Amino acid sequence: MPAGMAAAGRTDTTGLACLLPFPPARARVHLRQGLQRFPSVSVRTRIEALAVDEDADGETIRCEDLRTGVLERIRARYVVGCDGARSFIRRKIGETPDEMGFNEHWLVVDVLLNRPIPDLGDFSIQYCNPARSATYVRGTGNRRRWEIALHDDEGYADMVRPERVWALLAPWVSPDEATLERAACYRFQSLVARPWRLGRLLLAGDAAHQTPPFLGQGMCAGIRDVANLAWKLARVLRGKDDDALLDSYESERAPHVREYIALAVRLGGLTWMSHTRADPHGERGR
Ligand SMILES: Cc1cc2nc3c(=O)[nH]c(=O)nc-3n(C[C@H](O)[C@H](O)[C@H](O)COP(=O)(O)OP(=O)(O)OC[C@H]3O[C@@H](n4cnc5c(N)ncnc54)[C@H](O)[C@@H]3O)c2cc1C
Repeated sequence: MPAGMAAAGRTDTTGLACLLPFPPARARVHLRQGLQRFPSVSVRTRIEALAVDEDADGETIRCEDLRTGVLERIRARYVVGCDGARSFIRRKIGETPDEMGFNEHWLVVDVLLNRPIPDLGDFSIQYCNPARSATYVRGTGNRRRWEIALHDDEGYADMVRPERVWALLAPWVSPDEATLERAACYRFQSLVARPWRLGRLLLAGDAAHQTPPFLGQGMCAGIRDVANLAWKLARVLRGKDDDALLDSYESERAPHVREYIALAVRLGGLTWMSHTRADPHGERGR
């Protein structure tokens, strides 16, 4: 999850959740610490999975410890590919993901305000500027984010240069009012994998679905995936249920995730620039 803001539920007058910004880095630390409650879980970082091979009893993950270069094999009855947008487990499962109509390149900038600027607003704003769409996100504390659409001829390396970033932020904030925390370019996509399961291989998170971030629901959807899948896997592994139970994971999660992506695409569509309509895959210039 890129540093910045994530959104989860704050209850409004209907009792339903609306937006509540929090820094995803803190959420990540919290989740990681929470795993310490479970002696059965071991967390290993900087291990790259290189291949997964199936036999009659399970899967063998071939991987490399990136600290030492040592190659190893890990046995598993099931493998959940939470390996992000470029998931190799998704490629292994095979099918082409469903495209849901949004594929654009955007610059994401986080700044820390040096002093309060109340005019920026304590809410998020979508700027439907036909020359260049943008989103303003009110972060936590003094952090503010702008997500700014890139034109086809604007390359990532050039657009993250501080002088380019400050020029783009000029309508809202200047270098003496704020400190640049980070600037990065992303491809905002709208995809749903098909299927999410093949035998002992499953997908979760961005490996299974990607949404433009306009609703702040990408990571939230991944957490919902895991909430749906974890107890089912536990029951199957303990022999309390047949592994057909795992088929209900995709049938329950995929329609929900599609609704959210469709809504985010509609919201993003409000801000679409004419040039991207002519180049829906936004590949030119990169
Ligand atoms: C600009 C922007 C703003 C966003 N805002 C929000 C928001 O407000 N709210 C929200 O809920 N979501 C938001 N998201 C979406 C959110 O960032 C993603 O949905 C989330 O990070 C996906 O988590 P993930 O764990 O599935 O994938 P990732 O975060 O991509 O993590 C995948 C991990 O797998 C590892 N990996 C990949 N391949 C291998 C391999 N072969 N071996 C070992 N490890 C591997 C990667 O190194 C990485 O650590 C935003 C995204 C963007 C780009």
